[in-house]
Amino acid sequence: MAVALVLAAASASAQNPTAGGTMPPAEDMALARALLEQLIEIDTTDTERGDNTRAAQAMADALLDAGFPAEDVHVLVPPDFPTKGNLVARLRGSNPDAEPILLLAHIDVVDALPEDWSPDVPPFVFQERDGYFYGRGTADDKDECAIHTANLIRWRREGFVPERDIVIALTADEESGTRNGVEFLLAKHRELIDAAFALNEGGGGMERNGRKVSNNVQGAEKVYLSFWFAATNPGGHSSLPVRENAIYELSAALLAVREFDFPVMLNEVTEEFFERSADLVGGETGEAMRRIVDDPDDTEALAVLSSQASYNARLRTTCVATLVEGGHAENALPQLARANVNCRLLPDHDPDEVEETLRRLAAPFGVEVERRREATPSPPSPLTGEVLGAIERVTEEMWPGVPVLPVMSSGATDAVYLRNAGIPVYGVSGIFGDMDDVRAHGRDERIRIDHFHEGQEFLYRLVKALTGGG
Ligand SMILES: [Zn+2]
Repeated sequence: MAVALVLAAASASAQNPTAGGTMPPAEDMALARALLEQLIEIDTTDTERGDNTRAAQAMADALLDAGFPAEDVHVLVPPDFPTKGNLVARLRGSNPDAEPILLLAHIDVVDALPEDWSPDVPPFVFQERDGYFYGRGTADDKDECAIHTANLIRWRREGFVPERDIVIALTADEESGTRNGVEFLLAKHRELIDAAFALNEGGGGMERNGRKVSNNVQGAEKVYLSFWFAATNPGGHSSLPVRENAIYELSAALLAVREFDFPVMLNEVTEEFFERSADLVGGETGEAMRRIVDDPDDTEALAVLSSQASYNARLRTTCVATLVEGGHAENALPQLARANVNCRLLPDHDPDEVEETLRRLAAPFGVEVERRREATPSPPSPLTGEVLGAIERVTEEMWPGVPVLPVMSSGATDAVYLRNAGIPVYGVSGIFGDMDDVRAHGRDERIRIDHFHEGQEFLYRLVKALTGGG
C-alpha cells in the first residue's frame, strides 16, 4: 500500500509540480510529532489530575518560540476554572476585509485508567511502536491540535501570507465538563474566533483492510434531546395486585416507541451521502441507496436501509429507551416508574413535533412525557463549491481515486455551538483510520504514524487552498 501510494503521488507530481508526495517535509513531521508527544503527556481529562491550561500554554509557547507575536497568541481561561484554558492563535492575512477561516480542535480527552489498558501501554505516556503513536488523545483529538499548531508554524516559516486570517482554537471540555471552550469563546471572545467557516473533527478518512475507502466531510450532525417517560399509580400491597401498574404502563409506552418509525427526511448532506455511497457499497444496499434518493417513499429500499443501524440513523430522527427506574419495594405495587428516552433529531426536525409524537405514543397508557432540557439546534452547513471543491481537489491530488463523502454524524461534536452561532463547520481532516478498529474513547488509543503525517499534509494544502494568497 505504501509503495502504491508513493508511486501514485510521484505520477501525480509529474503532471503537477506543486503536488509533491503525501508527506510533509521532515522538519515539519518532527515538529508535529514533538507537539503531539508534549500534548499526550499532559493529562487533560475532566478530573482533578487534568489541566487543559497547561496543554494550551505548551502550544502557545511553541508558537511564540517560532516567532508569532504575543498579540496573536492567547491562552483564554474561564476566571472560575483555572484548569480549563483554551488557546486561540492567528496567522494574519493580507486582506483585512476577508473573513478568517477557523481551525477547531479540542485539547481535552476522555479519562483513561491504566488498569483498563494493556500493561505496557500507559495512557498518558507517548509511545511509538509498530508504526503507530500510542496514548490517550492520539486519535481524538490531540492529533489535530498538534497538526494545526505545526501547520501554523510551517506557513509562517515558509513566508506564506494567506488572503484571510487563519485562526486556530484548541479548546476545553468537548468530551465532558462544564466549561466548554467553544461556548466560552463565543460568549466572551467572539471577535477572536469569528470566521467565515470552520474546519473541525467529525470527518476523516475511512480505511478498511488497509485500503482507503473514502475521505469523509461532516456537514451536519444530529441534535441530542432526552425525555422522561413517567407512569404514576396509587400503589398498594403486592399480595393484592391490580392490572393498572406503573411498571406495566411504562413498559407498554416504551414498546410503542420501539414499534414507531419517524418519517424519512433527507437533507442536502444525507442525499449526497447516499448518492455517493451507492457505488462504494454496491449490492442490494447500494441499489437501495440509489432508489431512496430518487423516491424517499420507496418502501422496499427503505426496508433494506432501515434494517442497518448506521443507515437508519441517517434517514430519520430516532428515539430509544436508555434508562429505566421504578418501584420502591419488593413487596409493594409501584407508585412511580420512569424511563429516559434519548432522541437524536435530524437537524431540521422541530423538537416540538418530536415531543408531540412521543406524547401521542405514550398517552394511551397514561404515561407523561417531559423534555429534560432544551435542544441546541445545529443547522446543516451548506455544501458550497468553494469548500467541497477544494476538499475534492486536494484529496484527488494526494490519494487519486479516493472519493469525498459528505456525512451527517449521528453523534454530536462542538460544531453544534458554531453552527448555532451562524458559523458553518466542516468536519474534515484527511486523517485515515481503520473503520473496524476504532479506539477513540477506548483502550490502547493509537494513530498510524503515516496517517498522522498525511493528515498534516492534507490540512496544510487544504487550508492554503481555502485561504488564497501565496
Ligand atoms: Zn473528539
